[in-house]
Amino acid sequence: MEENTYLELLAKREIQPTAIRLLVLKAMMQAGQSVSLADLEDRLDTVDRSSIFRTLTLFLSHHLIHSIDDGTGSFKYAVCSSSCSCEVNDLHTHFHCEKCNRTFCFTNIPTPMVKLPEGFSLHSINYVLKGICPDCAAKEHQKGL
Ligand SMILES: [Zn+2]
Ligand SMILES: [Zn+2]
Ligand SMILES: [Zn+2]
Repeated sequence: MEENTYLELLAKREIQPTAIRLLVLKAMMQAGQSVSLADLEDRLDTVDRSSIFRTLTLFLSHHLIHSIDDGTGSFKYAVCSSSCSCEVNDLHTHFHCEKCNRTFCFTNIPTPMVKLPEGFSLHSINYVLKGICPDCAAKEHQKGL
């Protein structure tokens, strides 16, 4: 992707571009799936952990990215679609592969809505499906032959 695309993404969310912010965003886009803080540390060996963490916190507050609690104990982060404002209505389904530990965004599958009893108001939904991804299923199949 062009350098300009990253600058535009930051500008759209009213984030001042800095070298570190561009590096973190680029690494997240290039990963092609959600990443943990440790994944980003691996990908960005020139940037220290606390700078990456600060950048993620800033991105989260500007709704450039969303966080996913996939039950593994470490949060995953993924870049939001351009129309996302991280409201309950924007939430989508996530899928966690139990073999390779990757967590996927199913942005085309909204989280199912439930009707709450009177007096309860909804602020967020954590909807994570677990199973085996197509890559791992293919590997399993090969081993079986
Ligand atoms: Zn979002
Ligand atoms: Zn997998
Ligand atoms: Zn997602």
